[in-house]
Amino acid sequence: MLDPRAALVVFSGGQDSTTCLAWALERYERVATVGFDYRQRHRVELDCRQAVRRAIVGVKPAWRARLGDDVVLDLGLLKAIGGTALTDAVAIHHAQAGLPNTFVPGRNLLFLTAAAACAYRQGIAHLVTGVCETDFSGYPDCRDDTMKALQVTLNLGMDARFVVHTPLMWLDKQATWALGQALGGDAFTRLVVEQTHTCYEGDRATLHPWGYGCGRCPACGLRRAGHEAFVAAPPTGS
Ligand code: ZN
Repeated sequence: MLDPRAALVVFSGGQDSTTCLAWALERYERVATVGFDYRQRHRVELDCRQAVRRAIVGVKPAWRARLGDDVVLDLGLLKAIGGTALTDAVAIHHAQAGLPNTFVPGRNLLFLTAAAACAYRQGIAHLVTGVCETDFSGYPDCRDDTMKALQVTLNLGMDARFVVHTPLMWLDKQATWALGQALGGDAFTRLVVEQTHTCYEGDRATLHPWGYGCGRCPACGLRRAGHEAFVAAPPTGS
């Protein structure tokens, strides 16, 4: 009973999930969004979600007709578990054994499971998430194998036929900027620059050509480098 014309996007208000939202709006007749409040240190993300939803319907008339409901679910248990730089007031650093302390164990597993439960209730067949293996900071829950295994697990556990889509899985940040430009042109790229939030430090005071941010944290570094490469070599036809 899941509608194959409908998609649910895991939507944080950042560049990646906003590009995934545009990707879904191009493909599906009904597109809902789900976000998660896990007591992240910088709640500006949750404010950006609403700003992006208001702005994105102005990019294309078809997108206005397709954008459906939004829900924000409470995943405060991630804060209760704690111990990461995204939920606690500690500096970002790389542990000696690989993973940075911005890794929130189980986060994307919980996100996809909660999103699938929502989609089940809403009769939605397609799940879309902006996880990416190419630029990844070593997060094992962003890997393609993890997502494919989750799709199998969710379908077994809910006796459903969800399809998990990861449009950014093999793109670097330059290609993500280019995908956004291809989907929604200059209006969408401007929306990404001005309305989305990526900075780990929660900085919304300084607007750079690539968007708001501190300019120093790993998330800002990736976003800036990708934008500089995108501007230097825009996709043909744009
Ligand atoms: Zn930053």
